[in-house]
Amino acid sequence: MKTNRFFVCPYCGNVEKFKIFTSNYQVIKQSQETGMCIDKSGILPNLRQHDNYVECQKCLKKSEYEVAIDLGRKFIEHTRSFSLANVSLPVR
Ligand SMILES: [Zn+2]
Repeated sequence: MKTNRFFVCPYCGNVEKFKIFTSNYQVIKQSQETGMCIDKSGILPNLRQHDNYVECQKCLKKSEYEVAIDLGRKFIEHTRSFSLANVSLPVR
């Protein structure tokens, strides 16, 4: 299983477009269907090295990096168990 960063906005539930502000700055695009990052910009240096948040591109609110990624983890678990339930129908 590969580790994957996935973010969910705690305010509006957006999962598609975020700006990530940590010690670097990056714009990412995610796919709701696959729970994966499908596009990302190059990493740019962030002049404010102590930032640790993501900005939702839909509602433009900022949320804690850890909060958004924790929600993302739950989102993926939910999606995965959902799709597993779909493919693990008894075939024998
Ligand atoms: Zn949002």
